[in-house]
Amino acid sequence: MNQNNKASISSIISELISHLSQLPGIGPKTAERLAFHIIKAPESKIVSLSESLIKAKQMLTFCKICFIVTENDPCSICSNDFRDKSILCVVHDSIDAFAIENTNTYSGNYHILNGSISPINGIGPQELTISNLLDRVKNNPPKEIIIATNPTIEGDATSTYIINQITNTEINISRLAIGIPIGGDLDYTDNKTLVQAFNSRQSIR
Ligand SMILES: [Zn+2]
Repeated sequence: MNQNNKASISSIISELISHLSQLPGIGPKTAERLAFHIIKAPESKIVSLSESLIKAKQMLTFCKICFIVTENDPCSICSNDFRDKSILCVVHDSIDAFAIENTNTYSGNYHILNGSISPINGIGPQELTISNLLDRVKNNPPKEIIIATNPTIEGDATSTYIINQITNTEINISRLAIGIPIGGDLDYTDNKTLVQAFNSRQSIR
């Protein structure tokens, strides 16, 4: 008990909360909830959680061709001869490529940028894998590059930068269509999305 007669939080808990709150998307309140969940959970569960954290860090690497997170370098996509190497899909992170893979609609290759251009956060093109992408495109020009960056200011800036750097006019460059989400209502859609949806409309006859 301290002078105010209040229990002070254990420094071990504070340290755990501080580590958790540094994870993306985890605010201080969520970090607190997670910390107390960990403390109350069976020890075996927490041991296997910490083991998989360490395993992920020690055994995973980045593919030296496309920069996706992988156990084997080159990754199973780059080393698969059945994939269409004439199409390259450019995404911010490995998780975006995994999301596209889960749709079972794309059989080309990827290039993972490992982030997006964000001057506010001090991230310029040189912090990303853009020069590697440009080397890939120069040494082995694909027929098409699909830019699948996020529809955000950073995603747009990254996309524009890349498009301006690719001078080979024989390569088709496309960007993912942006529009109304499936199950979404037009009246709940923000103006910018609605304008993009109009501009990306597809002819059906
Ligand atoms: Zn790869």
